[in-house]
Order: sequence, then C-alpha cells, then structure tokens
Amino acid sequence: MEYMKSLKQPLIIAGPCSAESEEQVLATAQALAASGKVNILRAGVWKPRTRPNTFEGEGVKALPWLMKAKAVTGLPVAIEVANAKHIEEASAFDVDIYWVGARTTSNPFSMQEVAEALRGTDKMVYIKNPMSGDVELWCGAVERLRACGITNIGLIHRGFSGYGAGKLRNAPMWHLALEMRRRMPELPMICDPSHICGNREYIKDVAQQAADLGYDGLMIESHICPECAKSDASQQLTPQTLVETLDNIKWRAGESNSESYQTALMGLREQIDSLDSEILQLLAERMQVAENIGRIKRANDVRILQSVRWESIAERTLAQSATLGLSVEFLQTLLDAIHVESINHQNKVMK
Ligand code: PEP
Ligand code: MN
Repeated sequence: MEYMKSLKQPLIIAGPCSAESEEQVLATAQALAASGKVNILRAGVWKPRTRPNTFEGEGVKALPWLMKAKAVTGLPVAIEVANAKHIEEASAFDVDIYWVGARTTSNPFSMQEVAEALRGTDKMVYIKNPMSGDVELWCGAVERLRACGITNIGLIHRGFSGYGAGKLRNAPMWHLALEMRRRMPELPMICDPSHICGNREYIKDVAQQAADLGYDGLMIESHICPECAKSDASQQLTPQTLVETLDNIKWRAGESNSESYQTALMGLREQIDSLDSEILQLLAERMQVAENIGRIKRANDVRILQSVRWESIAERTLAQSATLGLSVEFLQTLLDAIHVESINHQNKVMK
C-alpha cells in the first residue's frame, strides 16, 4: 500500500456557473453529492459578465438556496465575491469558501477592497488567475490577502484571454500557472477546465493535462440542465457527465521508487541536459555570427534590420514545422526570441 501514500487526493469543486433557482441548485447539488466524488459545491451568486444585459446572477436571494443545498447534501459551499458589498451580504450566511474571479484579480483596487473586507477570515479563499498573462497581478492578489491576515489561500488556473486560444475560450498558458506554482509552492493550485475550454467537448483533455501536471484538484461547472443554463451553457456538464469525466481522469503518482523507472528517467534526463547545453552553445554561436554581420554592416554603413531577409528565414523555418514535429506557434515564439536577441547583439556592435 506504500504507493497509495504518494497518490494524490484531488479536491473536486463542482456546481453550476450560476445559482438560477432553488430547484436548479438543489437538483444539481443532490446529484453531485450522490456521486460521492465532489468535495465542494460551487455556484455564482453575483456574476461578473463581460457584456451588460446578460444574466448577472440572482444576488443575495440565491444564498438561502445554497444554504438549503448545504443542509441537504452536507457539501460545503463556495461562491464568488468581487467587492465589499458581496462579502458583507454573504457574511449573514454560512458560506464556507470564497473565490475571487479573474476580472477581480486583474484589478488591484478591487483586489484591495476584497482583501480588506475579508480581513482576518479563516475561510479558504481561492484566487483565480487574472485575465491577462501577468503573473505579478496574481502574486499581488495573494500578497494583498496575506497583508489582511488571510492565510487559507488557494489558486485557480482558468486560462488567459486573448492569446490566440484557438478552439479554447481562454488559452491555458500552462507555463504561467507553473511559474505561479514555482513562486508560491505552498499554495494548493487547482485547474478550472470549464473556463479554459468554454465548450464541454474539450474538458476531459484539459482536466487530464492538469492532473498530469500535478494540480491539487479541479473546479468544473455542472448544471442539472446545461443547455438551459443562463450563463456558460456550452461549457457546463450534467452531473452524470461530470462523474464520468472524473472517473476517467488518471491521477498519477508524483513519484515512483521503482528502480527500472529511476534508471530510465536518469538516462533520459541526462540526454535532455546534454541537448539543452548543445542548443545553448549553438545559440551563442549564432549570436556571434549576428555580431559579425553587425560589424560588416557598420563598416558598410548599412542599417541593421533587413526585413526581407528575416521574412525568408521565418518562412523557411515555419515550412519545416510538420517535418520537425514542432508546432508553428512554438517555432514562431522561438524565432521571435532569436530575432530580438540577434538585433540586440547587432545593436551592441553598431554603437
Ligand atoms: C465563474 O467561475 O463562473 C467565473 C465567472 O469565472 P472566471 O472568473 O474564471 O471568468
Ligand atoms: Mn462560469
């Protein structure tokens, strides 16, 4: 049973995007609780909608519905709070957990207001990542809560808007969440595949990826009748589909002591280290050549940027995407970084 200790016990928060009626909240909560797979019931009471004239939540009227769901199912309940008024109104009820939405984390004034209104609470407060890929804002939100004496803090990764998310609603940008994890390893981090995907079709893949990256749990939207939902209808799962999805996620162990695994891993890591060092060596050599180009350009009074040349490099490289098995997006990012560094090196010798 030794391996059991290293298996993670993921935290599962599930429930509708919005609390819409007592019946909807109760029916959803009962189905989720009956599965035995959900730890916390979520429901939005105040909804931060991007556009006005869409459903903005039932507000304080919905809190008794959540209290009833909690009494009936025994599940602790979580709601989103975005300002001092929400916190004051919610404090009249026995809400167990709060989360701060992406739009609120994005705004330091709002975040400060929320932190002050929550001052000293021992309730768990989850902070979603900000809308943009600015890890500093996410850190700032944690710091503001901590400065107000809040110690039970968790993180929710819900993706970032406006990064060519493709088929997804919000680009996951996993590396940013992992950077946040690196900076604040003591905080539990869960993934919200519902808001990353925006479409129920992709949820299982994103949830599995989160499990593979060692997340501590998931927040997934579930509605007794997803297609009737007043917000986020296309991303919600029925409680039954949610349970099937959870059943199919493999939460792998963080480590294994098996000798053959350790030996194979060590060998592969050595290969990675030596390839990385060759790549860096080659990049350094490439920059030396760029400097030499800078020198002859200076000697001949020619400017640095010759866009036709760069376009042909980019075109040639991107055309190799399929043969190399490297995505166009990755090659583009890599080329951009190399280009900027080359220009800096040439600039240096032009001066
Ligand atoms: C939500 O959880 O329903 C929500 C509004 O999420 P986000 O803040 O991630 O957009
Ligand atoms: Mn939602």
